[in-house]
Formats: sequence, C-alpha cells, structure tokens
Amino acid sequence: MGKHKAKELEVVLKARDFIRESEINSVPVNLKLYSAVAGAEIEVCHDLDDEESGQTFFLNGRNIITVNGKHTEERQRFTILHEIGHIILELPSKHQDGSIKTTDLMSYRQRPEEEVLCDIFAAECLLPYDFFKKDIEDVDICLDTIKELSKRYRASIHSTGSRFAANCEGLCSFVLIEEGQIRYVSSSKSLRELKGWIDIGVPVPQNSVAFHLIKNRSETEQYNEEIPTEIWFNNGVGNYDMLCEEAIFIKEWNQCLSILWFDESLKPAGEIQPYDVGYGEPLLLEELDGILRWPSKSRRKNRLTSRIQSQHTE
Ligand SMILES: [Zn+2]
Repeated sequence: MGKHKAKELEVVLKARDFIRESEINSVPVNLKLYSAVAGAEIEVCHDLDDEESGQTFFLNGRNIITVNGKHTEERQRFTILHEIGHIILELPSKHQDGSIKTTDLMSYRQRPEEEVLCDIFAAECLLPYDFFKKDIEDVDICLDTIKELSKRYRASIHSTGSRFAANCEGLCSFVLIEEGQIRYVSSSKSLRELKGWIDIGVPVPQNSVAFHLIKNRSETEQYNEEIPTEIWFNNGVGNYDMLCEEAIFIKEWNQCLSILWFDESLKPAGEIQPYDVGYGEPLLLEELDGILRWPSKSRRKNRLTSRIQSQHTE
C-alpha cells in the first residue's frame, strides 16, 4: 500500500469512529450532531469573497467555524465537515491565507496533503459508508442515480459521484473534466483490478461523450452512448470492446462530469460470463459460505430495461 493510501485509510477509519461517536442514525446527516462532538460552533457569513469557503478560529475554548453563506447548501455542508476534519484529525489548516480553496474534488497535484485528507474526512462524514453502501446496492449505474443520491445526502454531484464510483461493485469510473482537462478520477475496485487507469492532467480523449459535449458547449445537458473502450482506456479493459459513457456539461463552471461503466451485455457474443467476473469483493464473501449465487433475473432485467429506456430518450 502506498504512503498516500495508508494515510487515506487511517483518515477514513477515524471518520467512521467519529460518525459512531456522533450517533448519526439517518441521512442527510445532521451537522449539529457532528459539531457538538467536535466542540464547534458554526457561523454562516454573508460577507466573504466568493472564493473563500470557510475557516476555523479557536476562541475562548471553542472552535468557531465560519462558512460562506453565498455558496450552495451542499458546498457549505462539505466545507463545515472539512473544517471539522481539521479539528478531529488535528491537522493544521493550509488555507488560512485564502490562497488554497477548500473544494469537493481536487487531486494531490494541486493541494497540500492535509487539505486532501480533510476532504476525504468530509466526504466520509457527509456520505457515511454504512448508509451509502446499502443505497448503491442494486441501482443502475448512471448519472440520474448519482443525482438522486446527491439529493438524498444533500451533497454535491461531485462528491456523490466520486464516492459512488469508489464504492460501486461494478466496473465504473467517475471523471471530472475542467476546461477540457481531466482533473479528477475515482474508480471502482474491480476496474482498478483490471488496470483500468485514466490519467489526470491530460486533455479529455477525442470522441468521448464528454469531448463532444464540451466541444459543442452542449445545450443537451446530459447524454449517454456506447463507445469503444479504447477511447478512454488505451490498453483495454478485460474483454470489453465497448463501454457506456454518460456525461453532463455544466456551462457555468466550464466543467464536464462523466461516468463510465461496463456491464455484461457489452461483452462480445459468446463471452458472456456469470456475474462474478470483475466483482472481487462480493464473490469473496460468497465463497466464505460456500454457496455461489448467480445474479437474480430481476437484476438483469432492470439493467436491460434501463438500457432500453436510455436508448429511447436519445
Ligand atoms: Zn482545510
């Protein structure tokens, strides 16, 4: 395990302890429960610059967290939890001078490690694993699922999409593209195991769905299509010739969010395998009790139905 990964895991485990200690038992999470345990008071400020997300001050034995009232509720919730991260993880803030933005998604390249770790803490607290894992069982991989989840958790589409891909059982990646460059990628364990890597800091691949949406600064805000795997993955992914890509262009921020996934129906004829291929964790669990379970018919049917529906809307 790399140095970054080990630290990330430590932060995730600390966040889970903190969630338990705060007695979070429903979503969207009640931030008051968290701030009480952290000994923090939250102040919404309406006179901060647009760029400024929030800060923490220590005053008379209390942590005072300020948050920018001009930002969306989702962003404010993330900022507050990022600041609580600084308190709980005892990591010094590197954005007191205002030069470093707190943000839902950034990579190591642009931000100090302390800040990335506080973002990881915030995402864990905002989308607690125990709830989120259950909510993504048996759902279709698509942007609408991510949008629904983001409403349920009052989290941004960015952080919800990132966590969705990271925890998804299927082969799936969530990509953030800004000004035509790939800024952030989150991929499922099974896709990483098949070496389905996407580079950060390079232009969005030509002929991807995201590429076309950006090129046309598309009025059609959301679009999905089956495209050749090699457009995104030079070295291929398993035996999959085709992948599904669904992307949304957000004009306001010059950003494009894209979700890529593979499913069984995309395999070449004659190569369709039982459901276990590429699904590491569940198979392991099933092996423990010695009973191999095949996918239920309803699950397959759901996937097919959604594919048919998406074809109709195009
Ligand atoms: Zn910070």
